[in-house]
Amino acid sequence: MITASHAARLSPPGTDWRTLWREAITDPRELLETVGLGHLAERLPADDAGFATRVPRGFAARMVRGDARDPLLLQALPQLAELDAAPGFSTDAVGDMAARSAQGVLHKYEGRALLIASGSCAINCRYCFRRHFPYGDEMAAAGQWRKALEHVRQDSSISELILSGGDPLSLATAKLEELSRGLADIPHVTRLRIHTRLPVVLPERIDEAFGQWLDSLPLQKVVVLHANHANEFDTSVDAACRRLREAGATLLNQSVLLRGINDDAETLAALSERLFAAGVLPYYLHQLDRVQGAAHFEVGDDQALALVEAMRHRLPGYLVPKLVREVGGEASKRPL
Ligand SMILES: *Cc1c(COP(=O)(O)O)cnc(C)c1O
Ligand code: SF4
Repeated sequence: MITASHAARLSPPGTDWRTLWREAITDPRELLETVGLGHLAERLPADDAGFATRVPRGFAARMVRGDARDPLLLQALPQLAELDAAPGFSTDAVGDMAARSAQGVLHKYEGRALLIASGSCAINCRYCFRRHFPYGDEMAAAGQWRKALEHVRQDSSISELILSGGDPLSLATAKLEELSRGLADIPHVTRLRIHTRLPVVLPERIDEAFGQWLDSLPLQKVVVLHANHANEFDTSVDAACRRLREAGATLLNQSVLLRGINDDAETLAALSERLFAAGVLPYYLHQLDRVQGAAHFEVGDDQALALVEAMRHRLPGYLVPKLVREVGGEASKRPL
């Protein structure tokens, strides 16, 4: 397999993750050139179809050169299909996004409170609801944490705090230290869960300072990654996962079922096997949130169920993720 690494202008090993973050590819023409597909630039939608392009160079380097159907490329490249109107696909598919960002904390499910710790991501995934909520960096900065932690402190039924976003690991480690100090005197919180795509798309984020922070937490730790295809893994991702496990974290993964990217049993089984090789268990396989601009990624429920059934035949039970859909207002994710 010829990957794009030699064309991706990679920074030298040891470069600080914030530099790598800033150096991400933000021009879709450059992304196409990086993977040897510059001639496809005329098929790009104007203005990135309203959602900025963003891909870390290390992630682009894992794309297969010359392959317009590359599963990593398709997750990040703006497409003309995003401009097609599709009935049922809205700009507020999850229902309460506006309320989420204003409030900073979401306490919908029993025992678990979810903190919108940051609105930023290192990669802009074309299928994500975030394309309609570019809510920026302000949440943690605006002192929302104090309010959110106050809510958690007042409610002793909350035993698990979930950091989500955006990507909570977009925050500086010093910010995370601030948060964990705030948690120190809330004894009923015994678990910290982090939902993040960074160990996969920018594994350099799991640096020594972060590892030491995680080591130091007197809590049970769960890190839920987000990978959709086995090709997203390489030795740098393995190293990040290893460090997270060394800090005592249980590693899980959630994927989104995406047409043209991972909608066949072989691809999904290979993803599960690759996750396990990195010490990660598959957790959820999500049906797509029905956000405007993402309709071309949707897989029907019947096909989704058949895919999971096929996985069950091929894999040990612990490598078969739960197929779910998020439905606003329900007390849990809805199993299909
Ligand atoms: C998804 C989600 C959780 C976590 O749900 P699990 O089923 O425990 O993974 C918690 N709170 C909110 C608001 C969520 O959307
Ligand atoms: S929230 Fe997750 S899926 Fe959405 S853009 Fe960020 S990393 Fe991608």
